[in-house]
Amino acid sequence: MDEKSEFEPEISTENTVDPHCMSCGMPMRTDEEYGTNTDGSRCDDYCMHCMVKGERK
Ligand SMILES: [Zn+2]
Repeated sequence: MDEKSEFEPEISTENTVDPHCMSCGMPMRTDEEYGTNTDGSRCDDYCMHCMVKGERK
């Protein structure tokens, strides 16, 4: 249950919420970590491992 905490640094002083992959929960902080849509644009919902050119991995 606590495994997820390894990926999340404590940022209680900031109001910003880091986007997380809806599939694996990986935090996405850089463009490279985001998945890509079929047209090559950035997919905000999934990471690079779970969404490659619109295809769920
Ligand atoms: Zn993912």
